[in-house]
Amino acid sequence: MSTAVDRAGGRRSARTRVVVLGGGFGGVYTALHLERLLAKGAPVEVSLVNRENYLVFQPMLAEVIAGDVGILDTVSPLRQLLRRTDLFVREVEGVDLSRRVVTLGAGLTPQAHELPFDHLVIALGNVTDFRGVPGFPEHALAFKTLADSVRIRNHVIHVLEQSSVVSDADLRRTMLTFVVAGGGFSGTEVAAALNGFVRRAVRDYRSIPPREVRVVLVHSGASVLERELTPSLAAYATAALAEQGIELALGQRLVAASAQSAVLSDGRRISTRTLISTVPSSPNPVVEQLGLPTERGRLVCDPTMAVEGADGVWAVGDCALIPMPGGQSCPPTAQHAIRQAKTLAANIVASHTDGRTRSFAFTGLGKLGALGHHRAVAELPGGVRIAGVPAWLMWRGVYWSKLPGASRKARVAISWLSDLVLPPHPVQLNLGGGRGATQAHFEPGETVFNEGDTGDSLFMILSGRVEVRKRFGAGPQLVGTLGPGEYFGEMALLGRRPRSATTRALTPLDVLVLPGSDFSALADGLVEFRTEFEQIARLRAESDAARAASDPSV
Ligand SMILES: Cc1cc2nc3c(=O)[nH]c(=O)nc-3n(C[C@H](O)[C@H](O)[C@H](O)COP(=O)(O)OP(=O)(O)OC[C@H]3O[C@@H](n4cnc5c(N)ncnc54)[C@H](O)[C@@H]3O)c2cc1C
Repeated sequence: MSTAVDRAGGRRSARTRVVVLGGGFGGVYTALHLERLLAKGAPVEVSLVNRENYLVFQPMLAEVIAGDVGILDTVSPLRQLLRRTDLFVREVEGVDLSRRVVTLGAGLTPQAHELPFDHLVIALGNVTDFRGVPGFPEHALAFKTLADSVRIRNHVIHVLEQSSVVSDADLRRTMLTFVVAGGGFSGTEVAAALNGFVRRAVRDYRSIPPREVRVVLVHSGASVLERELTPSLAAYATAALAEQGIELALGQRLVAASAQSAVLSDGRRISTRTLISTVPSSPNPVVEQLGLPTERGRLVCDPTMAVEGADGVWAVGDCALIPMPGGQSCPPTAQHAIRQAKTLAANIVASHTDGRTRSFAFTGLGKLGALGHHRAVAELPGGVRIAGVPAWLMWRGVYWSKLPGASRKARVAISWLSDLVLPPHPVQLNLGGGRGATQAHFEPGETVFNEGDTGDSLFMILSGRVEVRKRFGAGPQLVGTLGPGEYFGEMALLGRRPRSATTRALTPLDVLVLPGSDFSALADGLVEFRTEFEQIARLRAESDAARAASDPSV
């Protein structure tokens, strides 16, 4: 135990400083239990660092997409949950285990902040990482955080709005195709929620034929949830999704995505503008930087949750590999994280008092998964299996009872009741702000833009090749190919006119996309930038004119 230093640098108390990194179930419940032990006289002071000032109830995130619960119904303010914990709403940048300090990001001030600790609890969960699948980082939507759910909901409503004014039936069908990757609990729940929401919302759009809506769930196994549940329940879940009109692409993985399609492992392409991926997550980068032993990206712990190879460092939740009594390790679920937290808090205090730390002994209460249309599946200890409406009622009852705080429970109950009687609310939240430069991926043969399209962006080639074709008299002719480091799309932006050529990927193509508004701001403000692009546009226009002049069919 050492003397704590307060935020102003002064000496405070001879208490053990426990710093908890992460405000998910693992971190928040550890801090909560430490607070309770503190109230009973335990000599600890607790700080918690999290990038958001709220705890998200992840099991209900799919309901946010569907609008069954309100956007803020699933979150609990940390300051109301943790009354005796010093809260730092900042980014954890790194941990120096030898100096025993955590470095926090600068936040609104220019200075980084160091937080000393006697005990460190690592509860940083894991992260979504789409690297490794071409086109995923640019075009797949993640589903893990509250922001992800809001983003997906906004995107889906945007797609409905845009489809309603598209007269080209092929393009409209592409826009109305929604692809979800991953047939585990998250994937099935998001596919079911999305399917229910879109099919209900589309009734408000007179120009969209409801039969054109497609929701496709891509899963590598022979049935959804086959790794999570017994075969009979997995078969029930698979049939329940199919009955709701969800197309199942089973035995398939997604191997690439582009701005226009999702590519399956058997080579098939699904034309779409919406791809949601719930593929397994990756280790948190801060955890990776610690240099401590990990297995599959999770910190190796002993049964008391002490991290191997580091004194006074503990881990809890999804980022921790904690052995269970039977020899297996704890699965990454909220029910385990919440219970690990209680044992961990007691162990931290015990390590400074009587030294009697305990092993984590919980093995699980069962598994529950919602399937849409008021159906669910439940597998409980003792081989009890429930499916259909009773399982759905159990799903809602269990998760409702787990919501932290009475006000959260009241809000969710009101949302569920109003959802039963009121129509859906397909309102797109415009959060403002420019898009900024983004990256896009195109598969070979895909069109970047067509002659005559509105010119709304500039493209800079990062890798791959693109062909440029123009119509001269008889028909489109190849006017050139472009490669890494070259630009296209500037002529329409500079001339404020429609695209004068069609561009198509010849190879897998990665481009940086600069929106027209940002291009104009740069061109208006930087003379050199504008001159450079005007010169390229002039040379290309001269070359086109020469080609047109020599073409006998013009
Ligand atoms: C969509 C979805 C549905 C789920 N449904 C269920 C379910 O029905 N039942 C169930 O038991 N489990 C479910 N889970 C799993 C469960 O939510 C997780 O196991 C649990 O949340 C893990 O808690 P954790 O504290 O370990 O990590 P997390 O909840 O991921 O919390 C980690 C926290 O650390 C913060 N953080 C990370 N890096 C930094 C950094 N560098 N700086 C500052 N803060 C940082 C994050 O912002 C986050 O708040 C679901 C998960 C998802 C994604």
